[in-house]
Amino acid sequence: MSQGTLFIVSAPSGAGKTSLVRELIESVDGIQVSVSHTTRAMRPGEVDAVNYHFVDVATFEDMVARGDFFEHAQVFDNHYGTSRSAVEALLAAGQDVILEIDWQGARQVREQMDSAVSIFILPPSRDELERRLSSRGTDDHQVISGRMREAVSEMSHYGEYDFMVINDDFTTALDELRALVIAHRLDTRRQKQHHARLLDALLAS
Ligand code: 5GP
Repeated sequence: MSQGTLFIVSAPSGAGKTSLVRELIESVDGIQVSVSHTTRAMRPGEVDAVNYHFVDVATFEDMVARGDFFEHAQVFDNHYGTSRSAVEALLAAGQDVILEIDWQGARQVREQMDSAVSIFILPPSRDELERRLSSRGTDDHQVISGRMREAVSEMSHYGEYDFMVINDDFTTALDELRALVIAHRLDTRRQKQHHARLLDALLAS
């Protein structure tokens, strides 16, 4: 069985990353999102083991000490990490895997896995980003400018990524993500493993 591809997807809050990734995995077979561990509080509507594995700081630190994380980082006030065993098992089973992680985690993954494909999603304009960050339940000026600062800090790392998708029109951005996933399935090294028997038969003398 051929090994799946690991995709790293990063974006500032407000770029639409979570919705795009959700639609992507619904419309393409054989790709899953890795469920991260986090110490942050559950938000309304979130489900443990679906959105995140919600753990306390002591449990998270134990996992760090045991080397359970493929990558982990503090993002603003909370800790987040990707379980090594879960991701490795999915890739070994031939599944493509998406890590929705920040730029710090992306750096750690790249250092360990040359073949990882990284994608950065950007909003179409600064005004639109501000609008999206404002419509999240509060109009408090300080809260919004804090979110903008965090978004700008995350976006400043776009150049470290292999691919860039601008989420102006949702359908177009989704098509672009889908194209990236499908194109990587056609990589000759992967096709060689996947179609070994066909290649043997075609090349038999
Ligand atoms: P949120 O708390 O809004 O769900 O996520 C906040 C930030 O943490 C986002 O930028 C998200 O990509 C990042 N994040 C979520 N899970 C992980 C993870 O497992 N590792 C890293 N490094 N970042 C993560």
